[in-house]
Amino acid sequence: MEKTANEKRLEAMRANLAKLENSAEEILRKGAENMTSADREKLLQFVNIAYHDSGKIEGVASIDGTSACEFCSKMRAAAEDDALIICGMCYAFADAWKEAAWRRHKLNARILSSVLFTREELSALVIPSCLGRINEDGDIVNQIHAQNVLRIQTTHNDVNFGFWYKNSAAVDAGLHAEGYFRREELPQNVKFIKSSLLIGFPARPDWFTDEVFTVFPDAETTAAAIAAGAWACNGRKCKDCKYHCYEGSTHVAPVRYIAEYLRTNKARRALVMTAYDAKKAQAQARNN
Ligand code: SF4
Repeated sequence: MEKTANEKRLEAMRANLAKLENSAEEILRKGAENMTSADREKLLQFVNIAYHDSGKIEGVASIDGTSACEFCSKMRAAAEDDALIICGMCYAFADAWKEAAWRRHKLNARILSSVLFTREELSALVIPSCLGRINEDGDIVNQIHAQNVLRIQTTHNDVNFGFWYKNSAAVDAGLHAEGYFRREELPQNVKFIKSSLLIGFPARPDWFTDEVFTVFPDAETTAAAIAAGAWACNGRKCKDCKYHCYEGSTHVAPVRYIAEYLRTNKARRALVMTAYDAKKAQAQARNN
């Protein structure tokens, strides 16, 4: 049977993706110590930097990891036993059918977590916006990944980055390896945004955290967090909130909190609310 135009398009897309992946793997198999400078340059050409001309982060260029990484996979497995773990509702994972983005992001994480590139090499990457987001999808995989991201940020001082993470240990190790030990020394064009693992329970900030981003289980809990001083994200477009998460930070202001409303169906929300109420009651009992 003759293939439809859509089938042909998909086939071509998959063939291109496979070509990229195979070329990258061929180089990565040599090991970082045996790569030529041309190999390294070629690997960086495979790193996907996407400009978003519409949607939630319109106007922003993102460099994504992948929710197929080990860290995210462990968190999703943990979410099977705990309805409050936000990774159980990872939209990027659910959207894995967006095959091209999914595979490119996976390749990004593979490359950036395997080879430590020099600042000079990373400075050649073109970031097509003055606003950059790290990890719209996925997380930082290891120290090398964190170092590469920090080097990209510090060689692109004209870009303000929102650096989303959950994997504190990897970012902490990367910062130390890059010579950052105190808040005041952190790059001023980067906002470090820690994404809370548990719905309704803001994560404890790390020494380098600027903002803690938390999804709350319903309208009431979200409103209470905002009334207590949290910045209202609430599914707005980033441009409508003046790119709060991207503007440069001096890192000397106290940590701030951001509240987002959980978007899910009725049944799931009921499940989450039950788990939230139980955890809250436990915490209160401990404090009494
Ligand atoms: S707080 Fe504002 S900038 Fe940050 S994710 Fe939400 S809408 Fe975007």
